Amino acid sequence: MGKILDYKQMNEILDGLDSQVIKKEKPIGYTYFGYPIDHYVYGHGDYHVIITGGTHSSELISNVFVIRFMEKLCNREIDIDENLYTIHFIPIVNPEGTIIVTSAIRSLIPRDISDEEEQTYLLTYYRNSYIEGEYANKYRDNDYKLQQMMFRHATPNILENEKMKDYLNKLFKENNLPVGCMINWSSNGRGVDLNSNIETSSLIDRVESGEEIYADLHLNNIRRNKLGPLGCPYFSKKGEIEKENEALLNFYNEIKENYNLIGSFIYHSCGNIVYYLGKDKEDNPWVNLTEEMRKDNYDAANVYADETGYKLDEMEIYTTMDSKLKSLFPVTLLVELGGVRATPLSQFMNLDLDGSAEDFKWIYSKIIDSNTEAIIKTLPVMLKIFGNKRQK
Ligand SMILES: [Zn+2]
Repeated sequence: MGKILDYKQMNEILDGLDSQVIKKEKPIGYTYFGYPIDHYVYGHGDYHVIITGGTHSSELISNVFVIRFMEKLCNREIDIDENLYTIHFIPIVNPEGTIIVTSAIRSLIPRDISDEEEQTYLLTYYRNSYIEGEYANKYRDNDYKLQQMMFRHATPNILENEKMKDYLNKLFKENNLPVGCMINWSSNGRGVDLNSNIETSSLIDRVESGEEIYADLHLNNIRRNKLGPLGCPYFSKKGEIEKENEALLNFYNEIKENYNLIGSFIYHSCGNIVYYLGKDKEDNPWVNLTEEMRKDNYDAANVYADETGYKLDEMEIYTTMDSKLKSLFPVTLLVELGGVRATPLSQFMNLDLDGSAEDFKWIYSKIIDSNTEAIIKTLPVMLKIFGNKRQK
């Protein structure tokens, strides 16, 4: 049994959780193609925390990490005081994207595969992406990509949802999307990148001016200025907010208004980075960030970074949906899981190859274990920060 989870497997695990420990609530919303954005709750304490994964669906490790964390809580492998905290989980923020990317994966890598066999696919994908990154630097070619060609039989026709299948077939044709690019799908089913889908996206002016914008390195054959796998900030007109983002923002607001929201964790991949609210390069469009807010955010991020060994990095421009959540709902941490390039597969590598660098060893286990520990260590810090503020 491999480490990758597809959308169906994720839901099998989630449905199998002991409802006495983790309870499924009603979805926070539905996507354009009708998928629920599911919400689960652990504990019944006064202090509320939100944990989300999979905004960018190609960052599959973020879904899997959140789900494995929930499973550990359920099995009592880890312990968080359920009388003190209430933890809200949105493990699949972008269900349509997760369906697209995991269907692409399953077109090549079957479920019933040994761990060892799966690892050979992951390594091949990693190496192919690495080669394409080198070629992009050296030759600036933005033609076929080895890692996409591995998934060239993953066309929209493999999707079960007829409406989404027809829509994507049309999109592939109209926008001339690269062969095999479903493996790199970060957007939702409409081809909008949820993190870019924000009124302050730096991409909006460039898109409006008709600029051709390409992604970087091994993804440099993907355009960000058109609906597709990644980067596109809106569907048909600027300011149009996708259903997933609307649901998420409403949900955060609801928790903040009705309860003590002490913090949240937003998971992306990759980079081995924890972002905190740094000194603004430009004014924050949503809130006047005070020194105190910055310090609070930093203090929590610092504990998280210490536990994982991740790099602390300043967030200083506010052009993404997650920067809005970070600004409006302190103390929110944005974590980039894993230090190797090439989502959705490389973060599942769990190898100890002779002569490989330390960072390349046991990538998957390190992500799961150290981030699990980091949440447990960071919660009391969030609680303390919240308590300090209340005393003032
Ligand atoms: Zn991301």
